[in-house]
Amino acid sequence: MYADVIVNISSENVDKPYQYLVPEHLAEKIKPGCPVVIPFGNRTINGYVIDLSEKPQIDPARIKPITGIAAKINPVDGRMISLAWWIKDRFGGTMNQALKTVIPSSKKIKQLEVRTIEPLASKEELVSLLGEAVRRHYTAKERFLRELIEAGKLDYSLTTSKLNIASSVISKFESDGVIRIRSEVVYRNPFSDIDRTGFVKNTLNPAQQAIADEVKADIDTGKRRDYLIHGVTGSGKTEIYLDIIEHVIESGRQVIMLIPEIALTYQTVKRFYMRFGDRISVMNSKLSHGERYDQYMRAKRGETDIVIGPRSALFTPFERLGLIIIDEEHEGSYKAENVPSYHAREVAFRRGEDENAPVILGSATPSLEAYTMARAGRIRLFKLDSRAGGALMPTVHVADMREELKNGNRTVFSVKLRELIEDRLRKGEQAMLFLNRRGYSGSVSCRSCGHVIKCPHCDISMTLHNTGKLVCHYCGYSEQKPEKCPKCGSPYISSFGLGTQKVEEKLKDLYPSARILRMDADTTASKDSYEKILSAFANEEADILIGTQMIVKGHDFHKCTLVGILMADMSLNAPDFRAGERTFQLLTQASGRAGRGELAGDVVIQTYDPENYCIEHAAKADYEGFYDEEYGFRQVMNYPPARCMLSVLILSTTEEEAADISEKVRKKIDGYKDGNAVKDKALQIKTIGPADAPLAKARDIYRKIIYIKAGDYSLLVKIKDMLAEYADGLPATAALQFNFN
Ligand code: ADP
Ligand code: ZN
Ligand code: ZN
Repeated sequence: MYADVIVNISSENVDKPYQYLVPEHLAEKIKPGCPVVIPFGNRTINGYVIDLSEKPQIDPARIKPITGIAAKINPVDGRMISLAWWIKDRFGGTMNQALKTVIPSSKKIKQLEVRTIEPLASKEELVSLLGEAVRRHYTAKERFLRELIEAGKLDYSLTTSKLNIASSVISKFESDGVIRIRSEVVYRNPFSDIDRTGFVKNTLNPAQQAIADEVKADIDTGKRRDYLIHGVTGSGKTEIYLDIIEHVIESGRQVIMLIPEIALTYQTVKRFYMRFGDRISVMNSKLSHGERYDQYMRAKRGETDIVIGPRSALFTPFERLGLIIIDEEHEGSYKAENVPSYHAREVAFRRGEDENAPVILGSATPSLEAYTMARAGRIRLFKLDSRAGGALMPTVHVADMREELKNGNRTVFSVKLRELIEDRLRKGEQAMLFLNRRGYSGSVSCRSCGHVIKCPHCDISMTLHNTGKLVCHYCGYSEQKPEKCPKCGSPYISSFGLGTQKVEEKLKDLYPSARILRMDADTTASKDSYEKILSAFANEEADILIGTQMIVKGHDFHKCTLVGILMADMSLNAPDFRAGERTFQLLTQASGRAGRGELAGDVVIQTYDPENYCIEHAAKADYEGFYDEEYGFRQVMNYPPARCMLSVLILSTTEEEAADISEKVRKKIDGYKDGNAVKDKALQIKTIGPADAPLAKARDIYRKIIYIKAGDYSLLVKIKDMLAEYADGLPATAALQFNFN
């Protein structure tokens, strides 16, 4: 057996591991993540095992044996390496890709340093120096002194750039003792100006207290469990997190708090800052490499207790991790889209188990995965059925847009929605209009009856290609687009979309004096615009907010008492087996925005498919009912979480090669299946495809896809490993990518 060893844990060196022989007597002990002592040149040094293999990379005679196991170098590094190894094993990709996911690059470290020029001389002395500079026509010195006298102190970089003063001039003043230059490495903390004095934490209500107490008691008695808090929007989940976090950090342990990037708003983070001050550190995608690395090192040195951030914050190298929280656990962004495409939930369970830290999931609309685990008793389920502070749940109205069309309403607003908008404008309350465009990618539906054209084999909507053909991206089945609706014969059948701009124009026509804000890809292109629009709306600078993405958290719009959801069923037509789940989540989360203050709220769901179970259950805020029906569908169709699923993406520069490799991959899977018969018919391996991937060609790379479903995850891992080995031998023009759905 051979071990790949890295000698220093930073990405540059991760690129070149060295191979060593694992001596017989250490074979049992050496695992990825293990710190080892190795001969290196003519010294012995410490390193970490990152991978094991049976293949020597060079002449075996030249591979030296590992000297021994090192006394602890850094336990965190070892742990993160073994976590990377687990990720690679479970989700695919190379060890290098996994390490890069888990350990940030130390390249391009640029610490944020602010240099300030402060006077040491008195004001009189400065003024007399200025007089001298003027007399002698030292214009640069004159400019500098004038600014310094006026401003009291100067920013170094602004002085050299804007005032155009040479650094030699500044150094001269410094060596003469006129000024001093103070430099500070800053960890940018956007909250440092906020005054925390007088902050009083909320007292938990009995329902919240019961949950917090149980978790805290488990922690204190060392009973490691995982939890799911299923609580409606505004039920006070965050308040529970805060209470438990406080308990954990008081016992000297550290906390990772995951929040989807989109919900990581100023308002959300402020709540944590008010409670914990500088003990928190915030990660987000706006941080530069250097800033991220700084935060990473701060955590490693134990300078923070709580890290708040999206998916990647899961890899914070805390030495005494005591708790992981995943808020809005159902969010799609917890799944990495690049290799290794891990899911934060699963990695959190793994890390939590390794480090004896519980995991708390929270959501108003738990993922089927989480809820299935809760039902099976694998995680403890808590429920919060009402809103904290007693705010009422909104009244939901479903507007059947087929009826509206029949009755001659050709506008995008139902009669009910218009009525309620007018009511709010009159009362000076606010409304949000949410355009559900998710999954809108050319699915074809009937405007008269709402019928959506689906693949007869997959129960997934087909996509209209510009050849006029409808194609199923799951199995490749295709047919000509019909002229008339196959169900009702109406000619109003098309792939249609509706833009936010259109909605804005129409609203303006109807209500010329209403103040309208729009939030979409166009208006949120610049850096802080997303946050600005939300703040403006929260400050009641507009009556109506139109948006394509529903903000899940962060802002309470107390005056917003109406939410209108246009095209509620659009996301049902996405070519994805989770389309129904996503729709239910979107509608429920959107409804949760209405009436969070004192005022009661209304929600109008506009749909062409009012009998759809996702819409019906969302309108009734009936999660359980939705879950049962959705789980039944997954079971019948063999989708997760009823079964496990692996998709294999076949990439090639030519279509022929992609097709050829796809067939070979399929044969390999079939061969594996024949050799590994599973008794229970329902749990047998089932293979679908190859078919064109939903994105059939991207940047001149052809993409085919094969889906494999099985009852047992480990079978899929074995298939993945077998195919990864096959992929190693492929020409450079082709590759395979794995994704566990
Ligand atoms: P969730 O995370 O479930 O959406 P939050 O914790 O954000 O809910 O609570 C919703 C609102 O209710 C917030 O404005 C919060 O400050 C308030 N709130 C929650 N719990 C309490 C409590 N026990 N006392 C007073 N206000 C509370
Ligand atoms: Zn029809
Ligand atoms: Zn199909």
